[in-house]
Amino acid sequence: MKKKIVMFGSYVADLTGTADHLPRAGETVFGERFKIGPGGKGSNQAVAAHRAGADIVLATKLGKDVFGDLARDFYAQERIAAEYVLTDDEKGTGIALICVDEVSKQNQILVVPGACMNFTDADIETLRPAIEAADILLVQFEVNMDALEKAVDIARAAGVTIVLNPAPARKVSREFICKADVVTPNEVEAAALTGIPVENASDAQKAADIFHSWGIPKVVITLGKQGVFASAADEHRMVPARIVEAVDTTGAGDAFNGGFVTALSEGKDLFEAVEFGNALASLAVQKFGTAPSMPMRGEIDKIL
Ligand code: ATP
Repeated sequence: MKKKIVMFGSYVADLTGTADHLPRAGETVFGERFKIGPGGKGSNQAVAAHRAGADIVLATKLGKDVFGDLARDFYAQERIAAEYVLTDDEKGTGIALICVDEVSKQNQILVVPGACMNFTDADIETLRPAIEAADILLVQFEVNMDALEKAVDIARAAGVTIVLNPAPARKVSREFICKADVVTPNEVEAAALTGIPVENASDAQKAADIFHSWGIPKVVITLGKQGVFASAADEHRMVPARIVEAVDTTGAGDAFNGGFVTALSEGKDLFEAVEFGNALASLAVQKFGTAPSMPMRGEIDKIL
């Protein structure tokens, strides 16, 4: 029996333009290509989990605008239920303006989070029954913190397992972090939270020990193409990334987290879940885009 997952987090429309150089302050540059794609850490992770076969409820918020309509169309196309996709009357749908330098591949990103930083107490009450009926709550840091804290407190009171992907790095209280049953930072976020530099497996182990000393039972630190360091009270191990030809690693962390919670929801243990997330992410980095690059279950099973 699959456990039920609720993902409470962000949707952001990614507006990506490419040019032969990035604009300097005051400069207007003619671009080459433009595309709009569904993004936002929360939404990406939910799409990854849904395509991997999870029983997942998507709880996010959109504005009353064309980007909100695009998101709803995308969810309909993916057959993702939109019962808990809320609408904000004032704020627009979150957007990310992404300029990519076609030569250096560097980018500049301006995010206007909009509706996803505007979850109200009433919104959280709307989400309460879904959270209380879940087995796992998956959250990130791309929503307003007061709402996130309320959602997490509802989950705790109901005995729901909390998987916290503390991304992007934000200043939060240790008290809040300690409410998680599992934390899944990347190296930058692990360093920001623990205060020690994290670049390799041995650093990750030190950071994991700090998280454990705060009372967090399971720690999973992603280290890009090096792989994932996973640690529980009685066992810790570096799981190497799969060797693949990566073409776009944007959203690799989202792919990993979506896969990781899917496997947990199927009763797999921490290390099996890391292997599954690793496999899912290795497929996603071989395609362009974030949500659209997430693989289907059949593709994942084929390489496991
Ligand atoms: P992003 O912010 O771009 O979503 P992230 O920094 O949160 O990414 P990473 O640590 O870069 O996340 O990647 C997450 C996981 O994805 C890695 O632990 C690994 O399993 C997989 N991965 C990332 N890059 C590669 C790669 N080049 N080849 C194979 N697997 C990769």
